[in-house]
Order: sequence, then structure tokens, then C-alpha cells
Amino acid sequence: MAHFLVPPNGSGVGYDVDSKLAPGSVWRMQVPLGSAHDITLGGGAGLFVRSNNPGVVPNAFSESQNGDLRVFTLSGAALGTSMLEAGKGEQVWISLQVQVVSPAALLVQLIPRPNRGTLNPGLSAADNHLMLQLFGAPRSTYSKTDQPLTNPRLKRNMTTASVGPFRAHGMAPAVDSLRMVMTDIRAHQPDVYRILGSIGMLVCRYMSDSTKLISMHSWGTAIDLTLNRVRDKRDDGKVQYGLTLIAPIFNRHGWYWGGGFPTEDGMHFEGSRAAVSKWATQLVP
Ligand SMILES: [Zn+2]
Repeated sequence: MAHFLVPPNGSGVGYDVDSKLAPGSVWRMQVPLGSAHDITLGGGAGLFVRSNNPGVVPNAFSESQNGDLRVFTLSGAALGTSMLEAGKGEQVWISLQVQVVSPAALLVQLIPRPNRGTLNPGLSAADNHLMLQLFGAPRSTYSKTDQPLTNPRLKRNMTTASVGPFRAHGMAPAVDSLRMVMTDIRAHQPDVYRILGSIGMLVCRYMSDSTKLISMHSWGTAIDLTLNRVRDKRDDGKVQYGLTLIAPIFNRHGWYWGGGFPTEDGMHFEGSRAAVSKWATQLVP
């Protein structure tokens, strides 16, 4: 909820607590097309409140009173920008820029990577030692480029199947788990589900900045996702907003989010220690 305050003298000082999606731009807010959004106005008794672009934000907002606060429910009727103005007589005292954006645009928008300490609660990342112990080596040599899996037993345990929004090729129990994750995302984050894609699961190679550590993709237990066909850039400290909405769902199914790696990798999800340990018991000989 955006909250802005009109001081009694009308000098236009205000604040906004809904700055999560637009850090630093205090007087701007974004509303997804077709959805409603509440704005509270403090100290604004007797002021007019209007949208200067009613085609984008219709003026027919509903209003209720909560103590000194006036609560307005506005809606985004068309893509575009409108200024929401409050004032008296001829004079506009304060204004708030409302951008009506598509849900997809909102979800691919980059936000600072959330505090690492809050991510992947209760889960730990699997390391090469554990993976080699559980599954053996995917192949004998690796490089910076993608190479095929050669381990015969691992090959017998790979599958290609639809998981909902896309097809995935990886370790069978991981693909099964992914299908359950996607069912959960469809139920709880349908807007994200609609724009989810993948650029791959099983590829044998080193990790991006290593010539020693084997990527988890080599065992087919990691996946890279896209939102609206856009990849989240690795190591820029920012992640697509939509990824932050589905990370907790992945976590619930034992998947570890790369957004919480020391080197941020927002599009990457992989089986946690607990998940891969379970999957190891489900392989065929
Ligand atoms: Zn990855």
C-alpha cells in the first residue's frame, strides 16, 4: 500500500512506504494492469484527489475513512502513466506518479537481491564432494563449454518430460519434483507461471567462474529459468522480482535458489543437500 502524507501547510512533503518495486523513486508507484491498489492519504481532509489521466487511472476510485487517513482504491485501466494529484482550490499540493504496467513487465523488473541471510531458510547447498559420493562422476573431463553426460548409470536415470510450462531434461526424481514445484507455482503465483521458461537443466561443464568445481547442471539436478524469455544476469546483485516470488515455493520442495549464492545467480535453482540425498535413493541401478 502506498501511503503519502499531506502536511497541514500543503508544502508537498510526503513519504511512500510502497517503494519496494521502485527503490529511490519515492513519488512513483507501479500498478499491474487490471488490478486494484490502495493508497492512503494522511492529513488530507477536505482536499480534492484526482487522476490527471483518467483513461489510465479512472477517477471513479472508491474512498473510505480510517481515522485521519483517507483510503483510496484505484485501478489500472490501461497501460500508461497518470499523476494522482491532491490539493485545494486551483492548487495541487502533492502528486504521485502512477505507472500502470503489464504484470509481466512488473515481474521481470530487477530489484536488489534480498538479504542473503533471509534466503533458502533451513536448506544448505549441495557441494561436489556430496554429489560425487551420491552419484559418481557425470563424465571424466570437463570444460567451460557444455558436453554430454557419459556415466552409464546416470544416463539411465535421466528423463525428458513436461513439468507444466516447459519440458525439462534432467535426473528423473528432480524432474518429478520440478513438476510438483510448478503445480504449486501455478496455484500460488499464476502470473509468474504464465511467463516461466527454461534454458536448460542437464549440461556437463565447470561452474561459470571455475576450472575445478563441477556445475550442478552436470548431474541434471539444477535448472535455469527465464521470465518472459528474459534471463536474469548473474553476479549483478539484482534479481527479477518474479524470481523472489517463486523462490520460497522452490524452497518448500527442497530446492536451493542461486539468488542466495555468494555470487548471485538469480535464474538458477538446484536440489539442496536434503533433496539430492533423497533423489539418490530413487535411482534405478
Ligand atoms: Zn544454472
